Amino acid sequence: MAFSHLQTQLQTQAQQGLYRSRRVIDSPQGIVLQLQNQTVINFCSNDYLGLANHPAVVKAFKNAADTYGVGSGAAHLICGHSHAHHALEEELAAFTGRDRALLFSTGYMANIGVINALVGRGDTVLEDRLNHASLLDGGLSSGAKFKRYAHADSAHLAELLAEASGNKLVVTDGIFSMDGDAAPLPELAAVAKQHDAWLMVDDAHGLGVLGVNGGGLLAQTNLGQDDVQVLMGTLGKGFGTFGAFVAGSEVLIETLIQSARTYIYTTALPPAVAEATRASLHIIQSEPWRREKLLALIQQFRTGAEQLGLSLMPSASPIQPILIGDSQRAVAISQALLAAGFLVSAIRPPTVAQGTARLRVTLSAEHEPHHVNSLLNALEKANT
Ligand SMILES: *Cc1c(COP(=O)(O)O)cnc(C)c1O
Repeated sequence: MAFSHLQTQLQTQAQQGLYRSRRVIDSPQGIVLQLQNQTVINFCSNDYLGLANHPAVVKAFKNAADTYGVGSGAAHLICGHSHAHHALEEELAAFTGRDRALLFSTGYMANIGVINALVGRGDTVLEDRLNHASLLDGGLSSGAKFKRYAHADSAHLAELLAEASGNKLVVTDGIFSMDGDAAPLPELAAVAKQHDAWLMVDDAHGLGVLGVNGGGLLAQTNLGQDDVQVLMGTLGKGFGTFGAFVAGSEVLIETLIQSARTYIYTTALPPAVAEATRASLHIIQSEPWRREKLLALIQQFRTGAEQLGLSLMPSASPIQPILIGDSQRAVAISQALLAAGFLVSAIRPPTVAQGTARLRVTLSAEHEPHHVNSLLNALEKANT
């Protein structure tokens, strides 16, 4: 019978501790989440600065809904590009120190669209092995020769670039989403330049969180658009809203408007989301205390976890995974933490490599030191 393997496949996934299911949330995003029958402390959101339910962001969203309604009505190139979108693009360009910025409806679509617009048959795309799925999918679907280099290994990248043909695009996460470590951007940029390649950085987890004024990993490493020609950022993480953008030169952005299929053939974000994002951008730039507090919480967590002998990763970001190894064990610990009132997700293959299942703890500027202490106590009891 057609598709009869689906049921078997689901059973196998369940037996291997790889089955995925959703939890229904009854409250706004925040440090305290109301699940259907339990209140928990949230340690798995990407809302690192606590902006997803910030009163000023919510107010901007509501006011904009009064002005613009809910739906954008069409794609940007048809009649869906509002003043709210346009103003946000200009502010994001200034914020990232690039000529122009272009909004996309999601980060996944931005990555697919950009890579496909820049390279194709006869070209080469080179990606870090641990890149986000959307970057890997973009590279694989582009028709360009697809090469992966060893994680954060600029020497390996240089070897591959020496043999690469056509236009060469190097693609990396800024902060790796499941590991929390940072790509060695100055080295990658130097190697790319030596080989006449472009460098694209997905700073989904760095923007808002790192660098002076929250400018992200590129602000922190002081790399401009001549070093990193393509900067991609998402709005659903540190910004606390939804959507994504790409920033770079005039030529890059005009090329994307003409040829990025995931830009052209999709409905624009609701303008109210753009207005809400303008409010969160303002908070990101004007409230450095959020980043300072977050850094202190990260330090507190790492010190405590090291004292407990937990297996941390070399991360200075709010993503602080604890390596467990076995998938079923990671799930069991995540369940024990949930029973104790803490929401921490178990990340398993194929999201991460076989044998490297982990608890992905994330911190937010809305956490207080006592939240971190109580999580550490629960981790000790959960027999990690
Ligand atoms: C979340 C994420 C994306 C996808 O962004 P969405 O807006 O959620 O589609 C892309 N890249 C990285 C590194 C991410 O963490």
